[in-house]
Amino acid sequence: MARQTFQIAAIPADGVGKEVVSAGRRVLDRLAEQSGDRFAFEWTEFPWGCDYYERTGRMMAEDGLETLEPFDAIYFGAVGWENVPDHVSLWGLRLAITQGFDQWANVRPVTFLPGVTSPLRKADDTELDWVVIRENSEGEYAGLGGRNLSSRGPGNEVALQTALFTDKGCERIMRFAFDMARKRTVKKVSSVTKSNAQQYGMVLWDEVFDRVARDYPDVETESVLVDAMSAKFVLHPEQLSVVVASNLNADILSDLGSALAGSLGLASSANLNPERRFPSMFEPVHGTAPDIAGQGICNPIGAIASAALMLDHLGLADEARMVDAAIEITTAGGVLPRDLGGTATTDEVTDAIIAALSRALLDA
Ligand code: ATP
Repeated sequence: MARQTFQIAAIPADGVGKEVVSAGRRVLDRLAEQSGDRFAFEWTEFPWGCDYYERTGRMMAEDGLETLEPFDAIYFGAVGWENVPDHVSLWGLRLAITQGFDQWANVRPVTFLPGVTSPLRKADDTELDWVVIRENSEGEYAGLGGRNLSSRGPGNEVALQTALFTDKGCERIMRFAFDMARKRTVKKVSSVTKSNAQQYGMVLWDEVFDRVARDYPDVETESVLVDAMSAKFVLHPEQLSVVVASNLNADILSDLGSALAGSLGLASSANLNPERRFPSMFEPVHGTAPDIAGQGICNPIGAIASAALMLDHLGLADEARMVDAAIEITTAGGVLPRDLGGTATTDEVTDAIIAALSRALLDA
């Protein structure tokens, strides 16, 4: 009998989500097998997503949130398919969970791996490593607004999409970013803003940032407009450590970050409810990749690195570092999927990570 059994809800959902969740599960199960009965994972897989919508008219079961609430964590794939409008599939499943469980902090590391070519020339001779902290509960994705006046005939409809910024929402994500910066080698937080053009929400964002920064005199700060920050990602990434940004800005910047690291397929993420009132959710940043889904060739590294973030959250920090190290050994050894210029299949990359993990466990 394992001493600690973690109950994990798996939601592979659509497209390559199914392939990468299965890869991540294999890695975690191997880790548990080799833990000498210290811990185990008990998986419950939910068939929610666009196929489920086809059958039921819903993206998840009506009592989905109640069903998920007792789990220790949620391991998610990707959502969206051509049979369901994107805003319906996103709001019906992924956002229903992140918002319903108040997973207000979205951690998205930008990790440069050995053996992976970055489009950044700087990556060849500079240590690059930063993390995007995304406000995950309000901002531009608060879901506020509406469509109106369509009754006046074609061409006359109006739509309002309102961004919500609350003092409390800004403060909690900024404190989270500062606390994370304190644990890093480079103690610096860069706040991403657009307060020159968005004079209400983003000005409040800036004011809260300045206020919170005063409690962290040991942490260096800067406030950068989002357009300038996208240039900085490319031109001066060595100046970044923790980047805190609103929901939309961080969403865009983290895709840019993962492309700069080599591929969208590499990027991991944790949707955290830091108070632990609800389960947190771990998922790769990439989407369902319909162009390559079902072929067994997608990159599982983003999902496996997300599983490492889940281990960390579950209190298995050493095991999380082992998974990260196994990923590095694999890419350094040239086992690369197609999006990274290699020929390895999803299974081959996963097998190589598992083999590296087993060697690391034997060495430990
Ligand atoms: P979403 O709107 O759901 O976030 P997206 O528009 O960002 O999705 P993706 O589905 O992430 O789009 O795909 C963007 C591109 O990245 C596609 O060409 C896809 O093949 C590629 N891609 C995404 N994920 C992977 C992966 N795991 N392995 C290899 N390529 C991937």
